[in-house]
Amino acid sequence: MRIMVAGFQHETNTFSATPATYDSFVNGEGFPALRRGEALHELENVNIAMGGFLAATRAYDWDIVPVIWAAACPSGRVARDAYERITGEILDAAQAIRPDAIYLDLHGAMAAEHHDDGEGELLGRLRAVVGDDVPIVVSLDLHANVTERMMSTVDAAVGLRTYPHVDMAETGSRAAALLRRLCAGERLHLRWKRIPFLIPVNSGCTDMGPAQDIYRSLGRGEGDGTFLSFAAGFPATDFPECGPVVWGYGSDVDALRGRLDTLYEDIVRREADWQVSLLQPAVAVAEANRMADDATRPVVIADTQDNPGAGGDARSTGMLRTLADARVSAVLAAIWDPATAAAAHAAGTGRAIGITLGGHPGIPGAEPFERIFVVEHLSDGRCRFEGPMMHGTEIGSGPSACLRIDDVRVGVTSRKVQLIDRSQLHMLGIRPERERIIVVKSSVHFRADFGPNSEAVLVAGAPGPIPANPADLPWRHLRPGMRTSPLGPTAP
Ligand SMILES: [Zn+2]
Repeated sequence: MRIMVAGFQHETNTFSATPATYDSFVNGEGFPALRRGEALHELENVNIAMGGFLAATRAYDWDIVPVIWAAACPSGRVARDAYERITGEILDAAQAIRPDAIYLDLHGAMAAEHHDDGEGELLGRLRAVVGDDVPIVVSLDLHANVTERMMSTVDAAVGLRTYPHVDMAETGSRAAALLRRLCAGERLHLRWKRIPFLIPVNSGCTDMGPAQDIYRSLGRGEGDGTFLSFAAGFPATDFPECGPVVWGYGSDVDALRGRLDTLYEDIVRREADWQVSLLQPAVAVAEANRMADDATRPVVIADTQDNPGAGGDARSTGMLRTLADARVSAVLAAIWDPATAAAAHAAGTGRAIGITLGGHPGIPGAEPFERIFVVEHLSDGRCRFEGPMMHGTEIGSGPSACLRIDDVRVGVTSRKVQLIDRSQLHMLGIRPERERIIVVKSSVHFRADFGPNSEAVLVAGAPGPIPANPADLPWRHLRPGMRTSPLGPTAP
C-alpha cells in the first residue's frame, strides 16, 4: 500500500486584516517550519497529528510517501499565492504518486483570499485527481468549522479531543487506525449534526466546564465501534458554515445514531454553561498581585482578546499599561513588534531606549505604548517546546528581546507567535518560576505547560481584536438562525 501523507493547516480569522503569506508557512510562526518529502519524518516525535500518524504507521506494512507539511499562526485569510502553491504541491504529488490511500493533517478552519472553505476546496480538488476509490482520511483541529464539502469528500475525519491540544499525536494515530480499516475494505456510516450556537474560544477549554465532560464522553462510543468527534468550531470565520459540529462513523447505523444524538443533546441542553466571563484587566492584576503575596509559584493571566492563536496580532497594550500603572512586578509576553526588536538589538543589552511599542489601530485602549525601556536580554528567538502542547516543536521567533520598565518586563518578538510554552520565556531570559505575575498572549493553550506550574490562572479582558464573546464581532455571513454566542442573538 502506497500511502500519501501531507499537512496544510491554518485557522483563519476573517475579521483580521493580517494575511497568512507563503513566508508565514515557511517559518511556521510557532508551528514546525514548512518541510517536504523525507524531512516530514523529523516530525515523528513531535506532538502534532502528523507526528502521531507517522509514528503509528511505522508498525504497518505501508509505503509512506510524505509530500509537504505547512502551518502558520492563525491570522486573516491565507494569501491566494500561499494557498495555491501549497495546495498545488499536494495535488501534483497525488497525480504523480497515484497513491492507494491518503492521509491529510488539516485544521478545518482555513479560509483563503479566494475560498471560504479552504479545506473543502483542497479536498474537492484532491478527490477529482485520485477518483472515488482512494480512501482519504483527515485529522482536524478541535476548532475546525466542519463543512458539507469536507464531510462529503473524505472517507473519514477525526477531531482533536483536548484544548489545550495535547492529544494531537494521539489523534494522528487514531486517523492511522481508521485509515487501515478503510484500506481493509470496511465501510463506515457517517452521521453529523450542527450545533445551533457559536462557542466562545475560552469556553472550549477541556480542563473544566462542559467541554471537559463532553470531550471525555467521546471515547465511550468506541465500545460499540462508533467513532465520535466534536469540533467546537472557530468562532471568528465569517462564512455560512462557521460553528460547532458533532459527527461520527460506525458500522452499526443504529448504534451510531444513538451515540451521536446523545452527544448532540448533551451539548445543547447545557447551552448556558458555554457562556464566557472575563475579569477587567485592573481587577485581574490586583487579584493576581494579592494572590502572589502568599504564593510560591507565579499567577498567570491570559490576555485572551489579543491571542495570536486566534488571529490576534499580539500588539495590544492594555495589559502592559495596566501592569505599569499598578506598579507591580510582572512579566508580559510576547508583543509582536519587529521594529522594536531590531532597535533593542541595535542598542545592546543594558542600554535604555525610547520606543513606541506595539499598538493596535482602531481599538481604544490598545494604543502604542511609548516609554523608555532598558534592554535586559537579547535572543535569536529560537527555542524548543518542552511542555505537553506540541512537545518537541522547534520554533523561530526571529530576533527577540526582553525590555524592562520599572519592575515590568516585556518580551518582544519579530515573528507573531502565541505564548504557550515556558521555554519561550527562557528564550527571553526570564525564569518563570521566579516571577510573581506572568501575562501571556494566549487564551487556553498556555495552560498545558503553565497550569501545573502556576499558583492560579486568571483570564482578563483587555481591549483587543478578538472579542472573547463572539456575539461582539460584526458577523455578516453566518447561516440564518445561528446564535452568535450561547443563548445570544441570532445572526443578522
Ligand atoms: Zn485549535
